Amino acid sequence: MIYKLFNNRIVVKFGGSSVRFSFRETLELVKSLCEGNKVVVVLSALKGVTDLLLDLSKSKNPELLEKFEEIHLELIERLGIDVNLESEFKELEFIIKNEKLFPSIDAYVSHVLSFGERLSVKIFSRSLEDHGINATAVDAFYLIKTNEDFSNAKVDLEKTGKNIWVIEELLKDSVPIVTGFLGNFNGFRTTLGRGGSDYTASVLGRLLNARAILIMSDVEGIYTADPRIVKDAKIVPFISYHEALIASRLGMKALHERAVEPIVGRVPIIFGKTSNRKLGSLVSHVSSKMPIITHKISEEMAKISIVGSPNVDVRWPIAERADNYVAFLVTRDELENALNELHEVVFNES
Ligand code: ASP
Ligand code: MG
Repeated sequence: MIYKLFNNRIVVKFGGSSVRFSFRETLELVKSLCEGNKVVVVLSALKGVTDLLLDLSKSKNPELLEKFEEIHLELIERLGIDVNLESEFKELEFIIKNEKLFPSIDAYVSHVLSFGERLSVKIFSRSLEDHGINATAVDAFYLIKTNEDFSNAKVDLEKTGKNIWVIEELLKDSVPIVTGFLGNFNGFRTTLGRGGSDYTASVLGRLLNARAILIMSDVEGIYTADPRIVKDAKIVPFISYHEALIASRLGMKALHERAVEPIVGRVPIIFGKTSNRKLGSLVSHVSSKMPIITHKISEEMAKISIVGSPNVDVRWPIAERADNYVAFLVTRDELENALNELHEVVFNES
């Protein structure tokens, strides 16, 4: 009991651009967090690598295999570390040639995609060791059990909970560096859906009863709308668990759609930017009561939702209205203008 009260466990997840373009800042941040905390690190693949592997799995183009190797070898060279990736390169080449060994295409693709995160953790844990911190690369395949939905798998918390002692054991004298995005169904590799490393972090945060989960990336936090499309989008400092749950399900990019459910009411999530350590948003019981405009694209249409402002009148057909959001459909061509127009309406009125 006392142990729980003084729990100093933190799970920190870094996105693909942190690992690829802010590697040193990522290392330094982990080192700082280790002072006074028990830290579990979750990593994405290097930015762009999952897309590349997805192409490779379909085209089996040897040039893509070479490109994949190059990206990682260049990073190793830049860092000046000594780590051997030959066994992973060989395995990947073998897998590409043996799709028929898998029970389904999705099982094969998941295995191909796994190399992104596996190489990330291998390189990162090696670098951390070189900086004097005891680190262990952990392939979540041996930890996280999922259902059979290979490319968008749901984590089985109960089965995964039975393996969590491994991380607890490692935490006694090292920093576990865990692959995001990856899981296991009956001995085959599964993946948790795009952006799934957030979900890995939240599952670990929940099972370890962590004090907080940090999600570090190249943006400071959650915005009132996608800041790449709406330049006036503002950061939202406080988001309630419930708002985060709804917004992520309705397409908010900052957080994987299944990442909130395991931690609701239990573990707060802090968002920050790796390169300057600015922490912009906190998901907890507290809310800034700022609406969040999200969107989800499906073929020719896009669904826009306004979370936290269900009574706004819009000039598009309403698709859904609930207590805490309103959703409507626009064509993909209209999406950018609609988001900007709405953002202005919502934030000038409220
Ligand atoms: N690497 C995976 C992706 O690009 C998972 C993640 O980054 O969270 O979707
Ligand atoms: Mg993401």
